Amino acid sequence: MAADLGKFDHVIIGSGINGLVAASMLALKGARVLVLEREDRIGGCLLTEEVTLLGFRHDVMAATFVLFMTSSAGAALGPHLARHGFEYCHSPHPTAVLRPDGTALVLTMDAAKNVRSFNALSAGDGDQHARDVGGIAADAPFLFALLGGNLWSWATAKLLFGQVRKRGLRGLAAWMGSALTPARGWLQSNYQSPLVQALWAPWVLHCGLTPESTYSAQMGKVIAFALEAAGAPISKGGAGQAALAFRRLIEAHGGVIRTGTDVEKITTHDGRVTGVRLAGGEAIACASVLASVAPDQLYGRFLDVNLPEEQAAVRQFRHGRGNFQLHYALDRHPEWLTAGLDDVALIHLADGVDSVSKSANEAERGMLPATPTICVGQPHRLDPSRCPEGKAILWLQIPDAPRVIKGDASGEIATQDWEGAREAFADRIEVILSRHIKDFDKIKLARKAYSPADLERMNCNLVGGDPYGGACSIDQFFIWRPFAHSTNGTGPVRGLIHIGASTHPGPGLGGGSGFNAAKRLGA
Ligand SMILES: Cc1cc2nc3c(=O)[nH]c(=O)nc-3n(C[C@H](O)[C@H](O)[C@H](O)COP(=O)(O)OP(=O)(O)OC[C@H]3O[C@@H](n4cnc5c(N)ncnc54)[C@H](O)[C@@H]3O)c2cc1C
Repeated sequence: MAADLGKFDHVIIGSGINGLVAASMLALKGARVLVLEREDRIGGCLLTEEVTLLGFRHDVMAATFVLFMTSSAGAALGPHLARHGFEYCHSPHPTAVLRPDGTALVLTMDAAKNVRSFNALSAGDGDQHARDVGGIAADAPFLFALLGGNLWSWATAKLLFGQVRKRGLRGLAAWMGSALTPARGWLQSNYQSPLVQALWAPWVLHCGLTPESTYSAQMGKVIAFALEAAGAPISKGGAGQAALAFRRLIEAHGGVIRTGTDVEKITTHDGRVTGVRLAGGEAIACASVLASVAPDQLYGRFLDVNLPEEQAAVRQFRHGRGNFQLHYALDRHPEWLTAGLDDVALIHLADGVDSVSKSANEAERGMLPATPTICVGQPHRLDPSRCPEGKAILWLQIPDAPRVIKGDASGEIATQDWEGAREAFADRIEVILSRHIKDFDKIKLARKAYSPADLERMNCNLVGGDPYGGACSIDQFFIWRPFAHSTNGTGPVRGLIHIGASTHPGPGLGGGSGFNAAKRLGA
């Protein structure tokens, strides 16, 4: 294919999950691929380092692989990656919520047990849970095609016609209407127990939404279904180990990966891609380019051609709230003051729908949340290789941090730049955490905090520390991601496909846009 265009068929800009999935799929098919990465290591959000103390290996950014495990990319590449050293680590307890009063609810991977424990909290809540996850299971072929597939395609058109035949036009319209429900409505109308409401409310934040967002109920139910069925696995040795397995797989099939290589331009002729030019001036010819970058870089930096519709759309494109990460090395396993949390993969510290809504709204308005919603991961429980025996690490994600600080909702942190606010905000999070763990001060060995600004410095796709490549509100999702006029990542430049979190199917480790692009190119 396109042998006259140079040494490579496909150049992939960016080595995040989508770039790595695309490169792997294409290399397995025999295409000549080149991956270009500006940082000195591959992986994008897949990064494992000893950021606190020697011997304590932390997933600095992404950690949970449920989206990869359940994705088409995971199904296609999983066995290949396993041969190159990638392995999942599990816990039977994927998630829990721990409220400020010390009450907790743990989700297990045993569906019947969940029904029983939810019903015990409030009669009918367990049955409702069964109906919610059962509804997702029943709609799975249709729903997951919409959530993951190339939407502008005959396959999607056929799927929609099939649904019209099955449900009738009004039935399909009603299905679509109920899919737009916000999580607040879903949780408050259907569940009586504050604990059940509090279990699911924080999860919508991981989809870049809030409890009031359109379609956040549907995403909450999809997450409930996925966690119950597949758990919250992490990568043995860390997310960086997954990136390494991708590297070995790509190179074993003749692919080339260059790090420390900043792409500056995508070159074109007569509306068609001819190659890329690197920051140092080197030109590389190729037949197609897959660009895994945020829209502002693609249309503001890479392309010199006049693309008025895209350039106007970039100006309207909105990034989402920032993200804050906090990592701990502990002298021993944390002793939770509430029983039953020891082996839970991800514990949310949150009171319920209102507290989640409040912290998200504060962050949205540029305020440091007074009581942030906190997600605590316990990687050492799933993968003891992460730290010395008997010790522990905690992975804390705070999905509600302002991109630009305008103030503090508590009125305590005066500084408005992240360099000055980082440790004070980390202290606020630590106070909440330490209320729930016995002698936290005594077992804490070290901590390392990353503000939204730090995250952007490590990966320029995380604009303003937005972990999800752009706000995921419905006007920027599905067929409208990143722009209202987008079509499967293809645009006015032939041979260029836009992939990555900013494109459909959006953020997370599912690798969907890389997979879809590779399929389009014949993989
Ligand atoms: C802190 C954090 C925690 C998260 N936790 C989870 C989680 O547990 N589970 C989950 O499913 N999702 C999680 N996510 C979301 C998920 O990690 C991301 O949506 C996903 O990894 C993004 O992948 P990507 O393919 O878009 O590329 P990215 O990972 O964003 O990588 C893009 C790469 O492109 C490179 N690049 C950019 N410009 C250039 C250029 N000009 N030249 C060369 N290279 C360039 C960048 O350096 C970067 O390495 C998390 C995200 C963050 C930030």
